[in-house]
Formats: sequence, C-alpha cells, structure tokens
Amino acid sequence: MDENKYIQDIICGLGLAINDKNNCEIIINYPIKFNKKSMQYEMNSEYKIFIQPIGSFLADFLNTDFNKYEDFLYFFSKYSLSLIDYNKMLKLFKESNCEQKKFEDFITDLLNKNKNLFNKLQNQTDIILDYCYLNPNKIANNYKAIERLYVLRRISPNLTLLNENKAAYYSVNLFSSYPGESEKQIYEFLSQKNSKITEFDLILPYNISAILYKSICSILKQDVYLKVCKNCKKYFISTNKATNYCSNIAPGETKKTCKEIGRKNVFENSKNEDPIIFSYYQVYNRKAMMKSRYPDIQKYIEDFEKYSKIGKNKLAKYKNNKISAEEFQKWIKKNS
Ligand SMILES: [Zn+2]
Repeated sequence: MDENKYIQDIICGLGLAINDKNNCEIIINYPIKFNKKSMQYEMNSEYKIFIQPIGSFLADFLNTDFNKYEDFLYFFSKYSLSLIDYNKMLKLFKESNCEQKKFEDFITDLLNKNKNLFNKLQNQTDIILDYCYLNPNKIANNYKAIERLYVLRRISPNLTLLNENKAAYYSVNLFSSYPGESEKQIYEFLSQKNSKITEFDLILPYNISAILYKSICSILKQDVYLKVCKNCKKYFISTNKATNYCSNIAPGETKKTCKEIGRKNVFENSKNEDPIIFSYYQVYNRKAMMKSRYPDIQKYIEDFEKYSKIGKNKLAKYKNNKISAEEFQKWIKKNS
C-alpha cells in the first residue's frame, strides 16, 4: 500500500482517524488564516497532521456552543474536513483565497444547516454519559459503565447517536523512511539499524455520530478520562484520572494555561491550611461525633451547636484578619 494512501483516505473522509491501540485521534486539516492586509481568508495548500488523545474531538464538540458563530468558527478551523467535503474546501478557496464576506456567509450557512443536528447530538451525549457514567439508576448501578452503554443501546432506539456509527477499519504499516521499490532494496533497507516498520490499525468514522460514539466507548472503558477543568469549567480529555486542570490558555490570560494557574491556586489555598484552622476542625469533628453518638444527651447537642455557631463566625473573622491568631487559638482552647 502506498504510504500516503491512508492520509488521502482520511482527507477524503472526515479528516479524522482513530488509532484504538494507542488511544489517539489523528486529525488532518488545511490551516485557515485571516490576512489583515488583503482582508481575505487564506487556506494553506499543505495539510497539517496532529495527534491528540481519543475523546478530544468529543470534548471540543461538547464545549462548542452551536448557537454562537465564534464558537462554531473555532470548531470549524480545527475540524473543517469533518464538517465539509475536501472538494468543497477547494471550491471555497479558489487559489487558496476566499473573500471575508464570502467565507463568513459560508460559515453562517453551514452553521444554520447543522445547528439542530449538533444540538441534538450534544443532548444525546449528555443523556448517555449521565446514564452510563455519572448517575446510573438503581438497576444499572451494579454494572460496568460500558455494559450500561450496551443496554442503553438496545432499549433506546431514539438515541440515534448509539446506532449511526459506521466506520471503515484499516490496517496499514509504515516504513520509517523510503524503503526502495524492489524486494532486494526493501530487505536491504530493513537490514539497516534504524529502519523500522510500524503497524497501525485505523478506524475511519463515516460521520460525526460515529466519532462521538467511539469516543464515548473509550471514556466508559477508562482508556481516557473526560474531566471538567476546575479553572475554566470546560471539558477536557486526560490520560491521568487525577488531573484537574486543562492545558488550554486560561480565560483572561495570554500565555498561562489553566494547569499553571491551577497550581498557583493550590499553593494559595495551602497557605490557608494553617495549624490553627486544623485544630479548629479537629475540635469541631470531635464534638460532632459526640453529638451523633449520644443523641439523647442534651449537653453534647448544645455543646456542638454552640461551638459550630460561634466558631463559624470566629473562623471567618480569623480568615479575614479581623481577629488575631492568638485570639482565635485562645477561643478554641477555651471551648474544646
Ligand atoms: Zn481549563
């Protein structure tokens, strides 16, 4: 097979292929830029390939507000071939250029045509993730997330996302560089130290539903994790379950990512975890335990209620530097 054949197939498909074994998505696009001088949009005539964890398309799709032009434009710039045919791209960008108004009208048109479908798919994804992953009902609770998906698929014909997932399967192998043409040349190539052959199993989805379905399966099998960033509150994909911040540029920042900002916040918060607050909660927890252990003894109930009521006030004052550390500490001791 020609080394570039699979790339051509991806370009003629949705500009996206999935490599299941390595849990990644391969995206191919032709970068589009606005040229301020000529006031035209320009398309790069050379394609660009980038690789991201599987599920990243899904996260981007869920983060896009399809009622907003800017959101859709951003999504389009990354996944243009998933949204329009390669030949249409060529038509739109005659000699790699497209006038500003023509391009913007085209995007608005494309959005209007697809808005309902994309909103519907977002809703369905919510329903599916909710059933399988976040909040399963009582009967479903004892089963694995991926098993719940298979059950949901059988009982919910209306969830089209679960049933419109056609894809082509590819097995390709790539030589690490040009191996030559004849049998002898290729074996000679292989006898060299740094020559390698890599095998790929690729899935080429036929439509956006198929991409989303495959991504949902990966999340439910915990090959990757769908997380909500604690800073920007957007979805992101992580290969590490414990990660809480995404690597995108944080809102209101020009260079710093949410990850960097998040670390700073953790540091700021840890400053608050001082030993006095710790001892306040120690006493609090002990009193709460006594109250629940001896619910008939009035003394424990009153003791806890007094401590928590006044304590909450003292704690807030201490945090806002309205009372001194000594004063707060003294109060805790007196009431412990
Ligand atoms: Zn973030």
